[in-house]
Amino acid sequence: MNILVINCGSSSLKFQLINAENEKLIAKGLCERIGIDGSKISYTPDGGEKEEKEVPMGNHTDAIRLVLEALTNEKTGVVKSLAEIGAVGHRIVHGGEKFAKSTVIDSEVLAAIEECNDLAPLHNPANLIGINACRELMPDTPMVAVFDTAFHQTMPDKAYMYGLPYEYYEKYKIRRYGFHGTSHSYVSKRAAEVLGKKYEDLKIIVCHLGNGASVSAVMNGKCVDTSMGLTPLEGLIMGTRSGDIDPAIIEFIAHKEGKSIDEIMSVLNKKSGVLGLSDNLSSDFRDLEAGYHEGSARAINTMETFAYRVAKYIGAYTAAMNGVDVICFTAGVGENSAFIRSMICNNYLGYLGVKLDEEANKKRGEDIAISTADSSTTVMVIPTNEELAIARETYRLV
Ligand code: ADP
Repeated sequence: MNILVINCGSSSLKFQLINAENEKLIAKGLCERIGIDGSKISYTPDGGEKEEKEVPMGNHTDAIRLVLEALTNEKTGVVKSLAEIGAVGHRIVHGGEKFAKSTVIDSEVLAAIEECNDLAPLHNPANLIGINACRELMPDTPMVAVFDTAFHQTMPDKAYMYGLPYEYYEKYKIRRYGFHGTSHSYVSKRAAEVLGKKYEDLKIIVCHLGNGASVSAVMNGKCVDTSMGLTPLEGLIMGTRSGDIDPAIIEFIAHKEGKSIDEIMSVLNKKSGVLGLSDNLSSDFRDLEAGYHEGSARAINTMETFAYRVAKYIGAYTAAMNGVDVICFTAGVGENSAFIRSMICNNYLGYLGVKLDEEANKKRGEDIAISTADSSTTVMVIPTNEELAIARETYRLV
């Protein structure tokens, strides 16, 4: 069965068509600037040429229509008709406490997702628009919702409660939810598989280091803690998000700079992280790494501060699980930057008996252990594949 995986943002839509039986990618692409001037679609059939064209897309239904046309195109398409798409898997950012698992979408599920909109006002409404657009064009195709938050729903209350008045939890469900769950789940399971060990027997820390970044603690096959919170702003220093800060800083900046809460939240989400810390050098770790080697003081301090924060979370989660067997690196930075991995492991993880295999650490694109055979804790790189994980979930449920 072919599964169409849709990741719908407010003005963009990423898609992949995956054969669920052999797990091969059939085609992928991206619609950008939906509802804005200059919208364009890019489409790449597996093994074929990437096509890009500017086409007006007034809304997400237009975008999905173009995706379906591309997939069924006589010349460059990959399926003869829509009947060859067995199901659609949708990435949904926030499932609140309602969704601890992926689920087949019906009108009740749609209403429940809508109830979580308050918790992710930028993401969930866009995800819902994507589902509705697909339902309009493929009314008989089953659809599945796969939630970024679901994997973290196994966290115990001591990990997800904040030290705030309890009534805020009761009234508004303010608590830690965590994100990137599909990636943390995929990577931790894959690590066990590659090591030939039982998932249920391991204590795993997953460092998902991309533009957005989070760490999770997975013990005996269940997530027990994660660094992102009510929103993706908490935890690590990210590309442009601040991660953990003293909440009183918000009031301080408001007074000093005469900014509103909305303006400060925008600074914390879009102008902070390694971008802000590097004094606007870049949010891209490739630039920062280059700056580091050129001796830029801001780049050096930014990289060190980023690595230090990751190492602190690894320490915290080792304590949370009373030990750790495997530490995994994944996502754009985690998969590609041997330098960051080495900074984290060589500078801070000696107490865990981590010994990095410098040659293995240079490799890319493989599921591998990058620690030596006599390292007390295994360190791995596992390239994440959220689309494949969504396709698997979708296939399993339909
Ligand atoms: P997201 O999905 O959150 O947008 P990704 O997981 O795709 O992010 O990661 C994107 C980040 O990966 C980029 O900001 C870039 O800094 C980083 N990255 C990609 N390639 C490399 C590399 N070779 N070295 C260091 N960082 C890299």
